[in-house]
Amino acid sequence: MPDGLSQVATDIYQVRLPLPFELRIVNCYILKDGTGWTIIDTGLNYPPSHAMWNMTFAELGIQPEGLNRIILTHAHPDHYGMAGWFAETYDIPILLSSLEQYFAQHAWIDSTYTDDAFITFFGRHGLPDDLAVQIQKDMAGLRAMIKTAEKVTLLEPDAHIRIGQRDFQTHVSRGHSDGHLVFHCAEERLLLCGDAVLSKITPNIGIWPLSRENPLEDFLQSLEYLAMLPVDLALTGHGPVITAFADRLNELHVHHEERLHLLETAITKETHAFEAAHSLFDIERLSSHQKRFALAETLAHLEYLARLGRLERIEQHEHIRYRRAA
Ligand SMILES: [Zn+2]
Repeated sequence: MPDGLSQVATDIYQVRLPLPFELRIVNCYILKDGTGWTIIDTGLNYPPSHAMWNMTFAELGIQPEGLNRIILTHAHPDHYGMAGWFAETYDIPILLSSLEQYFAQHAWIDSTYTDDAFITFFGRHGLPDDLAVQIQKDMAGLRAMIKTAEKVTLLEPDAHIRIGQRDFQTHVSRGHSDGHLVFHCAEERLLLCGDAVLSKITPNIGIWPLSRENPLEDFLQSLEYLAMLPVDLALTGHGPVITAFADRLNELHVHHEERLHLLETAITKETHAFEAAHSLFDIERLSSHQKRFALAETLAHLEYLARLGRLERIEQHEHIRYRRAA
């Protein structure tokens, strides 16, 4: 099989699409679905993704009319980017959760979540002006690689979907994004988990202008929820698939406990989230794209600590800082 395409289970193929930033690759999946096929996540809408999908269709002998539908785990650009293109080109339904559609609507379709709003939001947390300019450029670049879907079919948690011979149940797994769905086949102990759980890296848990208030709490609760699902094979959105699923859930939990402790001890005076990010990340060595994620992630940890009363959140003159609780 060509590079970037491999069979990971009976009737399930992993398609590794290139990304023009550090993450490098997003894993999408294509599943045999009766006489047709169902795609899980799409990649960015730019020429290298189109080339990879074309090669996949050629290799698996898929005709365009053989595509049944696209199901999305969440609406981040690397997963959602080509959704609108598939819908328009092949006239097939796009399925995603209502919360992810809400996010896509504001972030990618309307301009309610403009770059300015984004910059104002992070400016209050100490984002320096020169980095703000670069981030605006990054965001414009990202938007250019997203083809939004005009019509979607909403998919809710606890729905049952039949894909080929398998029954999947949808579960919401918050933290990385508010309405992130995972798809569990209990019979086969198989989970299509998107970015809810990753193998080599930890999923980014960040506070963004539209996100729920305490995504780290959401994420830690999701890990406990996922631990109740029987899983022998988890098909991830980035990096290798996971076979020791329970162990990976524990590692992620421990990772965040360690980061919380590190951050808490580093806050010795009133501190912006951007300043605090330096205690968790080697900020100067990161790209502007990574700095954006580092800031959102630090903010999620600070807010989690503040809500537990371990830190205090101070709002003053349009600025938000955190300090040790009195
Ligand atoms: Zn992703």
